[in-house]
Amino acid sequence: MKRAFRYRFYPSDAQAAELTRTFGCVRLVYNMALAARTEAWTLRQERVTYATTSAMLTAWKKTEDLAFLNEVSSVPLQQTLRHLQAAFTNFWAKRAKYPTFKNKKKSRRSAEYTTSAFRYRDGYLTLAKMTEPLDIVWSRPLPQDATPSTVTVSQDPAGRWFVSLLCDDVIEQVSASGMVGVDAGLDSLLTLSTGEKITNPRYERRDRERLVRAQRNLARKQEGSHNRTKARLAVARVHARIVDRRRDHLHKLTTRLVRENQTIVIEDLTVRGMVANHRLARAISDAAWRQFRTMLKYKAHWYGRNLVVVDRWFPSSKLCSACGALAERVPLHVRTWTCRCGHTHDRDVNAARNLLAEGLSVTACGDGIRPQRAHARTGQPSTKQEPPGVTQGTPVL
Ligand SMILES: [Zn+2]
Repeated sequence: MKRAFRYRFYPSDAQAAELTRTFGCVRLVYNMALAARTEAWTLRQERVTYATTSAMLTAWKKTEDLAFLNEVSSVPLQQTLRHLQAAFTNFWAKRAKYPTFKNKKKSRRSAEYTTSAFRYRDGYLTLAKMTEPLDIVWSRPLPQDATPSTVTVSQDPAGRWFVSLLCDDVIEQVSASGMVGVDAGLDSLLTLSTGEKITNPRYERRDRERLVRAQRNLARKQEGSHNRTKARLAVARVHARIVDRRRDHLHKLTTRLVRENQTIVIEDLTVRGMVANHRLARAISDAAWRQFRTMLKYKAHWYGRNLVVVDRWFPSSKLCSACGALAERVPLHVRTWTCRCGHTHDRDVNAARNLLAEGLSVTACGDGIRPQRAHARTGQPSTKQEPPGVTQGTPVL
């Protein structure tokens, strides 16, 4: 099993300069190859392959204007052509939009090194074109005898440097008998069918207030000014802190859920997540939910658990989990309600219980079989089982 381990590191001035130059070359090569592929397709209806772009790169390096491409390691440049190839493969398979150009300010600054371009020995990682190893903060140990196959270096908008090492890892298999339904909310981040409420990470409210203030400050600064750059960095820093705390919080939570439960039922909120929403709280919750789901998906796969996703039209908050009656309307501000059968429900706990019951009706149909139970409103089965082993990219821990 391939697993990525991510650490922060502190480059020397020379290393930072080398990496910044490499990021620039990676971006340039990617954009030039994308332009060539687009032109070949729109003008001549030709499909350019990875091999062709690789030959182009060799030719570019021989020209006087682009000779500087020889100064950085050739591996990240080759890797970016492979990434472009993957982007086209996804586009042709209708999984993604047409690839777009990398933008100096907005695009992720990163470079990928394969085994020929780095040396990892005795806990020291040295990249091509560098003499000194990177000063890495080993916040958690690499698995014993791990040999990284790929190393990705990146810098986030707040200016922090990260290195991610892709290693083979063996996951210790633990059996579990629990079953749990998870409801996503705004007040508490998540509610479990056991009645447990999981709140937002500590200090997040205060960080959000800081973010709003920093953004307001940025909006007042003049375009292109030095103060604007400083204000932008301040926004990036607060944002990075929120994202980091979120990630830690969700890692702990998903690991726990997957270790304790054999079956986990969640609601499909992908569509809701795509609706443009400018409210900060909502945007952050949606991002957290997407991340939660992605983590849950790959961890469920690691540990051999069932992750069941219930259709978003399933009326999880309106059903009484005790008698099955459907309430007429349960507006969002109603936190508890009483059914005709006499049961009083906490809105979110009730929803999580309903999700669990609905999810279990699928697993009862047998593994891998699509459920026949259709929901009255859509005529569609209200649940689907996640195909095992589908992870989005490589999970970063
Ligand atoms: Zn009832």
